[in-house]
Amino acid sequence: MSVRDAAAVVAAVLRPEIRALSAYAVAQADGMIKLDAMENPFTLPAPLRAKIASTLAGVPINRYPDGAARGVKLALRSTLSLPDWAGLVLGNGSDELIQIITSALARPGATMLAPEPSFVMYRLNALYAGMRFVGVPLAAGFALDAAAMREAIEREQPALIFIAYPNNPTGNLFETSAIEDVLRRAPGLVVIDEAYYAFADASFLPRIGEFPNLVVLRTVSKIGMAGLRLGYAVGASEWTTELDKVRQPYNLNALTQAAAPLVLAEGALLAEQAEALKAERARLHAALGALRGVEAVRTQTNFVLARVPDAPLWFDGLRQRGILVKNLHGTHPLLDHFLRITVGTPAENDALIAALRALR
Ligand code: PMP
Repeated sequence: MSVRDAAAVVAAVLRPEIRALSAYAVAQADGMIKLDAMENPFTLPAPLRAKIASTLAGVPINRYPDGAARGVKLALRSTLSLPDWAGLVLGNGSDELIQIITSALARPGATMLAPEPSFVMYRLNALYAGMRFVGVPLAAGFALDAAAMREAIEREQPALIFIAYPNNPTGNLFETSAIEDVLRRAPGLVVIDEAYYAFADASFLPRIGEFPNLVVLRTVSKIGMAGLRLGYAVGASEWTTELDKVRQPYNLNALTQAAAPLVLAEGALLAEQAEALKAERARLHAALGALRGVEAVRTQTNFVLARVPDAPLWFDGLRQRGILVKNLHGTHPLLDHFLRITVGTPAENDALIAALRALR
């Protein structure tokens, strides 16, 4: 079959909405200071790395992993002090859980609702699953627009609502009362996505018992384990039992299952790293705010957000100086000339501040 034939078959059978997409672009960052993807910049201490290495050496990779990932679940249950009635679903990153939840709820004609701008994977997964997506614009100051949410819930009767808390890419926590209102009015599932919980002052995890339609989504990616790909959803077992049916049988690989409990057991180390990043976030926020023409937004995440005079120009200027950040300009009207900058190590942040001063 020639390449031209393949193109003809693709054109004939592929879903047009998939054809219209461009592949998720991951920026090339070789040799650069990487402040674009909300990774934890700190490595693990050598003794812990050695312990992980020797544990991984003993993993029988000729066998399938434990399909129920019992070791990881036990570790999470104890770290989070989960009550017995709460269930857990584990994903290959919380990205996979967004896909699992969406495909479980995508009945023909069902609608997904989410504030916008927010994490783009909600909308994309709705598209993959053939689910209608309705975005509700955020209000001034990136606040959740309680009246608009109420009206959209009434009108759309969404089967599924995603709320990132804190929000990505705006970095703020929405008003508790506005989210409670959504939880009380929603006819379907409300997923509170707490990817950035480690850097935020509030969480809905302790409140899963209060709302029968609440599932909290989290990830270990931002606290130092992005490469392991491990996310988890917590909610009433009525939810998690059903969602687990959509999960691929061996979605968590054996190496992740062996390594994750060893890192999760290091609660003090992870907390110390998160505190250091929060202190660096405050330092970056102050440095950005001191630059003429720059407006720095307060965030509760491991990234800072700033409106600069010319985001494409500043993005390129930083890149030329070896620093990769995320240019949000053009992704949503509320984000014109905004840059999202992941908090790095103190030395990386120093380099960023020096580059920004030179640019200005
Ligand atoms: N939710 C939010 C709000 C995010 O920002 C991200 C990462 N960018 C994710 C989920 C996905 O994280 P992961 O798949 O690494 O767990």
